[in-house]
Amino acid sequence: APPLSRSAAAYRDARAVIPGGSMRPSSWFAPHPPYAQRGDGCWLTDLDGRRLLDASNNFFSLIHGHAFPPAVEAIRETAAQGTAFGLPTPYETELAEIITHRAPLLEQVRFCNSGTEAVMFAVKAARALSGRSAIAKFEGAYHGTYDALEVSYDCNPQNWDAPDGNPASVPYCRGTPETLLAETVVLPFGDPKRCREILRRQGSRLAAVVIDPLPSRIGMVPATTALLEVLQEARQRDGFLLVFDEVISFRLHHAGAHSLFGVTPDLVALGKIIGGGLPAGAVAGPAARMAVFDHTQGRPGVALGGTFSANPLTMVAGAATLAGYDEATVDRLARLGDDFRQATNTAFRAAGLTAQVTGLGALFRLHLTLGEIRDYRSITPPPRGPGALAAVHAGLLRRGVLLTPNCSGALSTPMGDSEAALLRQALLEAVAEAEA
Ligand code: PMP
Repeated sequence: APPLSRSAAAYRDARAVIPGGSMRPSSWFAPHPPYAQRGDGCWLTDLDGRRLLDASNNFFSLIHGHAFPPAVEAIRETAAQGTAFGLPTPYETELAEIITHRAPLLEQVRFCNSGTEAVMFAVKAARALSGRSAIAKFEGAYHGTYDALEVSYDCNPQNWDAPDGNPASVPYCRGTPETLLAETVVLPFGDPKRCREILRRQGSRLAAVVIDPLPSRIGMVPATTALLEVLQEARQRDGFLLVFDEVISFRLHHAGAHSLFGVTPDLVALGKIIGGGLPAGAVAGPAARMAVFDHTQGRPGVALGGTFSANPLTMVAGAATLAGYDEATVDRLARLGDDFRQATNTAFRAAGLTAQVTGLGALFRLHLTLGEIRDYRSITPPPRGPGALAAVHAGLLRRGVLLTPNCSGALSTPMGDSEAALLRQALLEAVAEAEA
């Protein structure tokens, strides 16, 4: 037998001690992903020495690509003085100031360690503030692995509809309690009218509606103005909290996605880029809402904190990273992304390929259809089947380009026109090859 590649050998060893041989369901693909060795800007090198143009950026979390020098320097300096203390440090105030100064709605911040935790704490806060237990989320949207939101994505189309014809609350995990499913109302992202009807009946029992305004698993299409208006109208009438999940989409605007969409949510969940490449999450919002986390007047409404919350390394890496993502940089990257998506779609059309990229700002996702992407159901199962998308992903990898396994990606600040052109050309070739 030919010798195994280093990645194949690493995976063989991993399977013995790690179920599935790796740690993240959404970043795994068959037969196994290459193992990463090191990264530098928008390039990464795998264990076998192959260089890849990285547009996955650890699932959109690395706005400056890998090993951004100011973040590395800040981590190095800070780590040498201790990594976590069981006491506060001024670093947490510095990152909180950076976030609150760029987004006027976000007057106060509390840090946690992942996007999952951020959304979880936002939901718990909404429950504490409203005294209600039910929540609503959109069909197909991913918000991390808190069980209240681990509902109605990646599920069998046979289970989609409830008897009343509205989207059913379908568990992702086996063993999810029925009582929990009954507390999560599911809304159709592409149908504001039906959302209005559902909210008319359910709104008064909701603590919160959780929305990601650019939901990647719904196809990475932005929420429509009509939909956002329905939510704001219902909130006014029913008094639930509007929670924006900006774990990915904060990057879309200097002051966060809610500013771009012109909406004033009650709480915002953050993650990914705010940690500068280290584990991070945060809940942010107006001080009056955030007071639910104040632990200094006896028991807080919701206890938000953990052993590594606001750890100094994440705080300094996040501060160095956001400092390098100023308004001009946000705009440059958004323009680069707009041009990239437009040029790619034009090239697909010119080549007669049945493909399009959706997205906003520097974020994009490939679909193997020319049909309109409106909601989760328009991409589930994926047009031309999961095999076709996997073939494109593999074709990209052979051409030295890394996207997430569902073929989404993000441009990062070390990229410019030449990297965007490389990406576009690889996409064209990989899609053409998969169609042939
Ligand atoms: N919300 C959204 C919109 C996400 O995309 C993700 C992660 N991809 C999460 C929440 C969960 O974040 P984490 O993986 O840091 O728990």
